[in-house]
Amino acid sequence: MSSQQQDQSTDTSTPASSSPIERASKVNLLGMTQAELEDFFLNIGEKKFRATQILKWVHQLGVVDFAVMTNISKVLREKLAQVAEITPPKVLEQWDSTDGTRKFLICMSGGNAVETVFIPEGGRGTLCVSSQVGCSLDCSFCATGKQGFNRDLSAAEIIGQVWIAAKSFGQFEEGATRKVTNVVLMGMGEPLLNFDNVVASMNLMMHDNCYGISKRRVTLSTSGVVPALDRLGEYTDVCLAISLHAPNDELRNQLVPINKKYPIAMLLASAQRYIDGLPDQRRKITIEYTLIDHVNDRPEHAHELAELLAEVPVKINLIPFNPFSLSNYKKVSNNALRRFQQILIDAGFTTTIRTTRGDDIDAACGQLAGKVNDRTRRSERYKIDMEAFTNASNDTIPVRLIP
Ligand code: SF4
Repeated sequence: MSSQQQDQSTDTSTPASSSPIERASKVNLLGMTQAELEDFFLNIGEKKFRATQILKWVHQLGVVDFAVMTNISKVLREKLAQVAEITPPKVLEQWDSTDGTRKFLICMSGGNAVETVFIPEGGRGTLCVSSQVGCSLDCSFCATGKQGFNRDLSAAEIIGQVWIAAKSFGQFEEGATRKVTNVVLMGMGEPLLNFDNVVASMNLMMHDNCYGISKRRVTLSTSGVVPALDRLGEYTDVCLAISLHAPNDELRNQLVPINKKYPIAMLLASAQRYIDGLPDQRRKITIEYTLIDHVNDRPEHAHELAELLAEVPVKINLIPFNPFSLSNYKKVSNNALRRFQQILIDAGFTTTIRTTRGDDIDAACGQLAGKVNDRTRRSERYKIDMEAFTNASNDTIPVRLIP
């Protein structure tokens, strides 16, 4: 709190209680960028510098009660309490894995909940953030996709996940031992289908008056919404990850259905343009490849992938598929995983294997499900499909369930 200049510091009044109707009409400042907050203050007849004060209180000190913002006059604090609020989403439940991973189930309006995962590793703390309630894209290996889709998260609900994790680890206090140092937009949802809110929240993650996370430590992962990816470079320069998962269109059409609309060549060309537009030319695209037993884990797939990516500046992250109840895919064998990696390394690619973290609390990649009031009714269809699959005799069991 030392960075905040005090004026009228003797005042410690709590906010006046307000009725639900009054609260509903208040604007939530949590997800507002500096520019949006400046506009807000100008609109209520105040100076723009108040925006900086609010950002620091909320995102550097974790304070959401106007009454204790002691460098803001009592009159303005009371005025703010009448028209605005700072309301992070609520944590419904929290699980801690034996490996230190922490998963939050976070309540969002409309009876929905999303999951957010914090993964510690040495001095690093990576937060995997959700951008939508469910997902409309229905990738065949993904638990979120099976849940169907409800809605986009607001910027407040996205940055609220960072705020909650930071608060949970005492990051807003002096001497915190754990911090959110990295953010990956790889949780529930396709970030580029919620473009404006995702861009605004990434802006807050990186802003010096907020969390100050380097652009090299914020990664947006997309399954390939090409028109939005083509616009991304105009707004941000965060790291880019592509959820590829297949070396050719035929297989990718089955695993990642949006590929039928934006095939691999179109996607890689768009990703290349994004990277080419960054001031730092040494950055690489991360290719995410979930390895599924007997689906995309054969040596010929690895060779085909190496050929496909030969001219693209990439590093490759192999992710062993994590089984979940609505899928009959199986985990890749260790032999197939190592063989696949070696082929890519021999072809000259930096190729890592993502360590499975938090699988005792269902927090591993592809396992996030949350609670989605499914407007697409897709989750019902998958349950019926799985029942048919489970009840089928051996000779009628399909090789895999692909929608
Ligand atoms: S992998 Fe990503 S884009 Fe595909 S269904 Fe899951 S959350 Fe959506």
